[in-house]
Amino acid sequence: YHALVCGGTGCVSSGCKSVKSALVDEIRKQGLEAKVRVIETGCLGPCNLGPMITVYPDGIFYEKVTAGDVESVVTEHLREGRPVNRLLHRCPDTGRVLARLPEIPFFNRQKRIVLRNCGIIDPLSIEEYIGRDGYTALARVLNGMTREQVVEEIKKSGLRGRGGAGFPTGLKWQFTLQAEDEPKYVVCNGDEGDPGAFMDRSVLEGDPHSVLEGMAIGGYAVGASKGYAYIRAEYPLAIKNFGAAIKSAREMGLLGTDILDSGFSFDVEIRVGAGAFVCGEETALLHSIAGKRGEPRPRPPFPAQCGLFDKPTVINNVETWANIAPIILRGGDWYAGIGTEKSKGTKVFALAGKIVNTGLVEVPLGTTLREVVYDIGGGMKNGKSLKAIQSGGPSGGAIPAEYIDTPIDYEALAALDSIMGSGGMIVLDEDSCMVDVARFFMDFVQDESCGKCTPCRIGTRRMLEILTRLTQGRATKEDVELLIELANVVKKTALCGLGQTAGNPVLSTTRHYRHEYDRHAVE
Ligand code: SF4
Repeated sequence: YHALVCGGTGCVSSGCKSVKSALVDEIRKQGLEAKVRVIETGCLGPCNLGPMITVYPDGIFYEKVTAGDVESVVTEHLREGRPVNRLLHRCPDTGRVLARLPEIPFFNRQKRIVLRNCGIIDPLSIEEYIGRDGYTALARVLNGMTREQVVEEIKKSGLRGRGGAGFPTGLKWQFTLQAEDEPKYVVCNGDEGDPGAFMDRSVLEGDPHSVLEGMAIGGYAVGASKGYAYIRAEYPLAIKNFGAAIKSAREMGLLGTDILDSGFSFDVEIRVGAGAFVCGEETALLHSIAGKRGEPRPRPPFPAQCGLFDKPTVINNVETWANIAPIILRGGDWYAGIGTEKSKGTKVFALAGKIVNTGLVEVPLGTTLREVVYDIGGGMKNGKSLKAIQSGGPSGGAIPAEYIDTPIDYEALAALDSIMGSGGMIVLDEDSCMVDVARFFMDFVQDESCGKCTPCRIGTRRMLEILTRLTQGRATKEDVELLIELANVVKKTALCGLGQTAGNPVLSTTRHYRHEYDRHAVE
């Protein structure tokens, strides 16, 4: 048997470490070490069901396991071959037991490309990654594809940057390949900072080699021999696992000099971010790696021409990099066959808020919000009704419940005054006050504004003041008009994406829930 214990940060906080050590102890006590291997994986996805154990080869899934349950799992299942009924997942509607992952709606409606190995392999084992086709794409690229062919394949796939802006990845690579200056760099943006978002953290924790392999392929494609992964300090497990992946890839000759005798050399270093949200903005991030103050600068020039150390640089986020190896292995056409006309492939979302199943899900673009919230997310908690879905974190907007049948893609969400963003999806119920929600996000961006440009530095402060007065019953309807005006001005005049999108939650909530603002206002 292989007993996989989910060791993602969500499960760590629900006590998986003590479950794992109890499992190891019990297996030893019952003399089953030769028969059972205990493996700690990265995040499997349904964080609300942790701690979780999945037993293979049967594929039996146990949820909400405590250290006290472990003796039954070992005795009944691992010794006698009978699954422990009371720890199995049940359909909330019928009560029917759903013992295996593919039977559970949370899993069987997903399409896992980025999360292909998360919760399945030991992230610290390069052998397990290789056992699931890991580094095959890198070998294919180095032994038979030109740089141009790699870029073409990524362009053909239609992959767009998963960090939020949605710029075509292949085009970005082409610009860097064509840039004449040298040396060139590749950078992984792992500075995920949106409240409610944990997609990148989970991939770095659960399948770090997928990101590393993508970066090595990107390095080959654009002619870079050095990569940097910028990971926020609040993600210690991601930093640890990614660092271990770099070490084992070097030891296997998959990073370093003359990789696989191809003549191509490439290595990666980690830079730990100190927790400034603005460092997720690419020019601020590049400044931070270079040891400068993490402040954005105007673009152009874009990083493809003038990036890290003023040299041509490809910067993509964690999820984008994790898509690269499967695209090379299965072809750009395969990837382009998934999703909608303009938004190809899958997207990972972090489900949070007043929803039954919180956690990490990956679905083809074009999947409706209803499928994500109800079929995968299990619907609303405590029988409440859905009020809105906040997508895109503090840069996004609240999508009212009436748009629940909207297919998720870049264009459709933008048409609703929201954005796809990096994938945070916060579900709000009938009790949520939308003025409070707007105030929460404004408080966040105001705090995180770097202060470099006046519209954002002063504008977010003034907007926060009005929102605060509204929530205290000390603002008028004229103040609401001023709030909307400020949101529009800051959107048009701020220097970087943080300021340009800071007013989005205000604009979307005043558009869809103006009556709530008016109710808060005094005459
Ligand atoms: Fe800094 Fe805000 Fe201006 Fe961006 S918009 S540069 S975060 S002050």
